[in-house]
Amino acid sequence: MITVVKFGGSSVASSGQFEKVKNIVLSDEKRKIVVVSAPGKRCKEDNKITDMLYLLSSHVKYGIDASALIATISERYEEIRRELNLGVDIKREFEIIMENAKNGAGEEYIVSRGEYLCAKLMSAYLGYSFVDAAEVVKFNYDGVLNEEQTAEAVKSKFEELGAIVVPGFYGAYPSGEIKLFSRGGSDVSGSLMAMSVNAEKYENWTDVSGMLVADPKIVENPARIEEVTYDELRELSYMGASVLHEESVFPVRELNIPIYILNTNKPNEAGTKICKQSDINDRFVTGIAGKKNFKALTITKSVNADKLTVISDVLDVFKNFGVKIEHIHTSVDSFTILVNGKDVDKNVYDVLSELRRVNGVVAVDIDNDLALVAVVGRNMRLKPGISAKIFSIFGKNNINIKTIAQGTTEINIIVGVQNADFEKAIRAVYNEVV
Ligand code: ASP
Repeated sequence: MITVVKFGGSSVASSGQFEKVKNIVLSDEKRKIVVVSAPGKRCKEDNKITDMLYLLSSHVKYGIDASALIATISERYEEIRRELNLGVDIKREFEIIMENAKNGAGEEYIVSRGEYLCAKLMSAYLGYSFVDAAEVVKFNYDGVLNEEQTAEAVKSKFEELGAIVVPGFYGAYPSGEIKLFSRGGSDVSGSLMAMSVNAEKYENWTDVSGMLVADPKIVENPARIEEVTYDELRELSYMGASVLHEESVFPVRELNIPIYILNTNKPNEAGTKICKQSDINDRFVTGIAGKKNFKALTITKSVNADKLTVISDVLDVFKNFGVKIEHIHTSVDSFTILVNGKDVDKNVYDVLSELRRVNGVVAVDIDNDLALVAVVGRNMRLKPGISAKIFSIFGKNNINIKTIAQGTTEINIIVGVQNADFEKAIRAVYNEVV
């Protein structure tokens, strides 16, 4: 049985962090596939290597002298190499990177070198073989990940080499050209490794001991989530609780491989387990998340107009402006569409005037002051009285509810309040249910 371990940027930020990683990896012989991010911040004021590499790539693109920047970036690696006495030629590696950059290797190549070099150092330090993600994480030419080819390539490399370190965050097109995931994508790389070898578990090591029930910036010292299902995690991350890259769940969910969020700096603390199902049912709320600054657009149609046609034409307007719809509530002659404020901020007047032009629409009103609070929990399903309990918390705390949404999966109740009540609402729900 294999455990895939992924270490995030802060876990590989210095030689001291490398030592912690080694202790973790070598303390369990199942930890045979290691994925690393690029070194992150060592302290608050520090820079992430990935950010500096984006900057380097702009320097190259616009022909700006980058020697000072290259010196800063390479020194981060050189310091780790020196302090751990590793036989990796960092100077030569940077010469190769700059040669390739001059010969047209683009931004994605330059940025990917953050993870590439970190994995080179980590492989030397752990005595595990280095496997370049460009050889095993395979994208089609249309940019879509080819899971089948990726699984085959990872499996065969792993069977050949036995214990490997793979850089996260990137893969390659069939031509060999580098393709990056979106930011934070090393989480997805780890997930792909776990899927490829059908791992027993995927441990995602970071700098927090798992997920918290609510945002610690809003609730003081919130409880840890012991277990969260894949579905709950999707809902929570969608509503702003970010601990893992959104797409990390997909590769492992079908094979039912659990993901553990663990803390490199406190390896003995229990983290959070993300899995298909959970038997823990001591509270009905798993997590509370939310976001501010939504807009509610209420469209009133003329009594004679066909509602379905009007809704469909109105949706086309949003589609044409590329605006994502969060929720739709309907009543007899009107319906309300909730959208994220930042999706329409730039062209709200154009959207409004297009909506007013739709056949059968008589009025469009907009409410700009809406925050959504999502109360998520698998244990809310099929239990009468849960929504009553949640709404009564809002009532007791004198918080006006502007809108309500609950899908039939019943794992998510979304309550809309005015922006000013957002933090108060989260604290009130937390204090009553946790
Ligand atoms: N280093 C990349 C980033 O900062 C990818 C990752 O860490 O997962 O986004």
